[in-house]
Amino acid sequence: MRVIISECLLGVPCRFDGSAKPSREVRELARKTEVCAICPEVTAGLSTPRPPAERLGDAILLKDGTDVTQAFLTGARKELERARRCGARIAILKAKSPSCGVSKIYDGTHTGTLVFGDGILTQLLKEEGICVVTEEALATIKPSVEHPVAII
Ligand code: SF4
Repeated sequence: MRVIISECLLGVPCRFDGSAKPSREVRELARKTEVCAICPEVTAGLSTPRPPAERLGDAILLKDGTDVTQAFLTGARKELERARRCGARIAILKAKSPSCGVSKIYDGTHTGTLVFGDGILTQLLKEEGICVVTEEALATIKPSVEHPVAII
């Protein structure tokens, strides 16, 4: 089985602040599957570290209002192509990110406020019919990790 995984969850320091966000459950799963590691923001050519960005509607904005939507969209589209090539039907992505968040993201005001919504890559993967969950959701269904297909 192949699984798309956010690189920061595997321990790669590619987050906006130059950190990683390794997840024990995700790394356990990665040892038992074929991994397609992705980071749409790095793939977009953005630097690490980089200014924090949030999604507001269809736009991705920095705190000062700079519109970085095009770069984020470019990275997300490239990762969508990689997802198609690797053939994975499941993705484990980093919660709350403007690229990778699933069902819950920051609201674009840079005030720490969460709203219902997906990151821009998550949206594209879902439109492709790929099942997308966060590392937080994976942790809550840990007993199923021994039998990953049961996650679906
Ligand atoms: Fe992690 Fe996704 Fe942000 Fe890359 S874009 S650092 S994979 S949350």
